[in-house]
Amino acid sequence: MEAVTIVGPGRLKTASVPVPEPLPGTVLVAPRYAGICGTDLELFHGTSSYLADGRAATPLIFGHEWCGRVVSADPGTGWRPGDRVAGQTMVPCGGCARCRAGRRGLCRRMREVGLYGLDGAAAQYIRVPGHALARLPDTVPDRTAALVEPAVTVVESFARTGCGFDDRVAVLGTGTIGLLAVQFARRVAGRVDAVGVDPAGLALAVRCGADRAIPVGETTAGSYSLVVEASGAPEAFAHALDLVEPGGRVGVIGVANEPTAGVVAGSVALRGVSVLGIQHGLDHYDRTIELFATGALTADPLIGATFPAGAAAEAFAFMESARSGPPKVLLDLTEWKGDR
Ligand SMILES: [Zn+2]
Ligand SMILES: [Zn+2]
Repeated sequence: MEAVTIVGPGRLKTASVPVPEPLPGTVLVAPRYAGICGTDLELFHGTSSYLADGRAATPLIFGHEWCGRVVSADPGTGWRPGDRVAGQTMVPCGGCARCRAGRRGLCRRMREVGLYGLDGAAAQYIRVPGHALARLPDTVPDRTAALVEPAVTVVESFARTGCGFDDRVAVLGTGTIGLLAVQFARRVAGRVDAVGVDPAGLALAVRCGADRAIPVGETTAGSYSLVVEASGAPEAFAHALDLVEPGGRVGVIGVANEPTAGVVAGSVALRGVSVLGIQHGLDHYDRTIELFATGALTADPLIGATFPAGAAAEAFAFMESARSGPPKVLLDLTEWKGDR
């Protein structure tokens, strides 16, 4: 089969590799689309924390935001050929103390598809444990299904922060996560404002349901009961703390790996602000798929480009070009010719 491998910093290789052999409890899936995100770019450039802490290593078949169709399955998994599925990134062991205590996201023997422990979906076939797949209804098309994985983290952010009808929400960042957060919040909260640096992204946020789109620098301190940091910019964490009102909550989804200047811990204490780190939404796949099925979440406005898998290098370059507008870039894993 064809597969796209990150072979080292800044180097991708498309080559033939063996189709994975069936193993007990596993399913062989033909991926249809895979989204590329900042995590993939960090693996590509060798700057990922997964590489730094030794969990991930190259060569690596990437691809953790994906959907596809079952080709063959261990009958014990309950999956059948032809089933449409969205893949989970995190694959917990199910047997360690944390898994048994219901904290699967903190599994001590965690593997993550396309990151470490399990090959990713940038290939013609992927083998995954049967419990690491979610069923797709016909009402969720393939391109949409490629956004289920990032969306589960958005659902987790609002579940953990306890978003309600009387919340005034600010979402920082107009990337895929930020725009999905706006879509979610417009259904749940009293109002939602998008805050960002990209004018096209802010315009998209309004299309996604934001009451207002506010350029960074024009916001009002202390005016939101809930702030969702979805930009990953180092300075955004301090901005989130500035925007939240006393007693409010800050959900941190964005992964800023640089220190944030200007944070005064005492003001968090004295203002009674709750800060919640949002790791992932491992338990929300089925309900997130339902949100796409009902139209509460919509993927189409977020998809900026689709590249053939054979042009993965161009897709990565496009991701990093000074672009704006629809943020999500997909790979079509049925197209292995190198030209667009
Ligand atoms: Zn991702
Ligand atoms: Zn475990």
